[in-house]
Amino acid sequence: MSYPITFFPSRSQEAVEATPGTSPIVGNRVELQLLTTLTCNLKCSYCSLGVGDMVGSQGEVSYTTDALDAFIKKHLSEHETYVTFYGGEPTLNLDFIKEIMARYPTFRFQLQTNGTLLDNLPDNVLANLSNILLSIDGGEAITDGFRGRGVYRQVVKNTRAVRDRMAGTFTARVTWSSEETSFEELDELADTFDYVYFQFVAGEGTYTPAAMEKKKAVITQLVDKFFSSDKLYPMIPIMGIVRNKVLPSRATELYHGKTQCRVSTHILNVMPDGKIFPCPDMMYVPEMLQGDVNANWLKPSPLQPHPDMPCDQCEAQPWCRGNCLKNLYLAYVKGDQKYRDNVVDPICDLVRFLGREIDRHDPLAWYAKAPLDVRKTLRDCEVYEYVEIMP
Ligand code: SF4
Ligand code: SF4
Repeated sequence: MSYPITFFPSRSQEAVEATPGTSPIVGNRVELQLLTTLTCNLKCSYCSLGVGDMVGSQGEVSYTTDALDAFIKKHLSEHETYVTFYGGEPTLNLDFIKEIMARYPTFRFQLQTNGTLLDNLPDNVLANLSNILLSIDGGEAITDGFRGRGVYRQVVKNTRAVRDRMAGTFTARVTWSSEETSFEELDELADTFDYVYFQFVAGEGTYTPAAMEKKKAVITQLVDKFFSSDKLYPMIPIMGIVRNKVLPSRATELYHGKTQCRVSTHILNVMPDGKIFPCPDMMYVPEMLQGDVNANWLKPSPLQPHPDMPCDQCEAQPWCRGNCLKNLYLAYVKGDQKYRDNVVDPICDLVRFLGREIDRHDPLAWYAKAPLDVRKTLRDCEVYEYVEIMP
């Protein structure tokens, strides 16, 4: 599906480029999500790069590190910078990863990977990663169904094999697609990985009434376990929503009140050809172009809240803050009614349900009694900076 888009606000590139001395990045931190390649060694059935035929379209990085240096110096020199290596499958371009790590020794680094090649990474790369996000779809049968036979076991085996060589954390990144994904499957991931982040898939045909009921039943079990555990139950969306309810300023401070996935404020997705977009799922949309490493320009993110989006009237707004802006944009600004009915509104329904389930357990009272180490991790967990927080 591709969208012929005239994006809001309708301003020329010259009018929105930064004036000298100011940065188009909002806040003091910036995530440089460097796509090392658009090729991949798997063929996942729902891959978002499949939209707009992005997969495989750019094999190698074609800008130089000197060009990247000049871009960082001009636009990001006053920001704390952290890099996420992304793809395609980023480990297919290991030389680039090593070069960037050597060139920017003070940056933080994260890897988003399908995990199948993890055991090939050298010690000095592993030791320098603050977090590894591993894509997985739930349990073995569901993951292998989407990703290929044997992938689940390989990812779990590789994670265990490199754990001793990693000082950082492992986070399972679950695209929650199947209605058969069970509480037990997600719960088991919390034993294997340090954190579990789940996100509801943007797939039409997924949210039938029966599937919604099944997902809600699993959400209820996850929230029950969160509030009955002796230690912190490391489910990032539940942790993040509880944090936002208990400490509301945390829901806004890094994002200046906008979406917590950072697309409106401080994430730059740099394609292998140097073109920059705010959202990795919309790199096929010309109007989303935000900058260019080679031409050394950057403007504020074009993906912004819009009056036609429904969040201001939503009970979840104080802690959700607009969840997935791509979804809201396609449904409410572009007016794709089918996508709104089949994907966006059901996901918002699940988000509101999740908030109400958390409220049933009185999160303020829970936080007041929680041990200091639990409070600290809930409040400051670094993984919030690397994922969207909201499902
Ligand atoms: S649940 Fe949906 S409508 Fe409500 S704040 Fe979140 S994204 Fe906006
Ligand atoms: S959550 Fe944010 S980054 Fe992810 S697809 Fe939506 S808008 Fe893009």
